[in-house]
Amino acid sequence: MPSPQATPGARVLVIEDEADIRHFVRLALESEGHEVTEAATLERGLIEAGVRRPDLVVLDLGLPDGDGVDFIRAFRSWSSSPVLVLSARSTENDKVRALDVGADDYLVKPFGSAELLARTRAHLRRRNRHAGADEALLSFGNIAIDRARRRVTRDGEQVHLTPIEYGLLLRLTSHPDRVITHRQLLQELWGPVHADNAHYVRVHMGNLRKKIEADPSRPRWLLTETGVGYRFSPEGPVHT
Ligand code: CA
Repeated sequence: MPSPQATPGARVLVIEDEADIRHFVRLALESEGHEVTEAATLERGLIEAGVRRPDLVVLDLGLPDGDGVDFIRAFRSWSSSPVLVLSARSTENDKVRALDVGADDYLVKPFGSAELLARTRAHLRRRNRHAGADEALLSFGNIAIDRARRRVTRDGEQVHLTPIEYGLLLRLTSHPDRVITHRQLLQELWGPVHADNAHYVRVHMGNLRKKIEADPSRPRWLLTETGVGYRFSPEGPVHT
């Protein structure tokens, strides 16, 4: 059943060597009106990506002829379309590597069609409104961010953030629904020397949540991706 928020007619490339999963993903995406192309190998995936110019890629990391991470590196050199990674338990660590080189999100197998569709909807929506991504004013719930004046308000009252807290908030909210890894945040906010100090991010994220979230222990906007990083969800947590 198509959701009213769906973005029908997107071109989606599914790169996955397991035929059952490929078929399952195709059926789910076609039920929302998307046009799906399948590839069972890394090499075929690269060819189809070049020919089809997909709006979204669903990518398995463990492919018979190579590593899905290599697909992302190649694809990112010419496309900014969202990449949703499928990771098996055996490739669990690889999902962080995939996010570090430019994947947007991941699903751990086994996953349901509701979860798959919620994620694809969010990423296609983000892609469609990408043109306005540089607007100075951003708001969600009772929070407003004036990027030009570096000013944040909550219910109209100014919120005082440290430069690191502001940097975290800006990085996450500038990329809605996208998973940003600890490493990416550390490199950008602290510099490459601190890329392994994930606890820095946790401490500052805790302080930021106290200032932004109604209930910092159950965040609505700044969500934790356990062992991976964080995600800003403009719609709040996705319940499936
Ligand atoms: Ca596989």
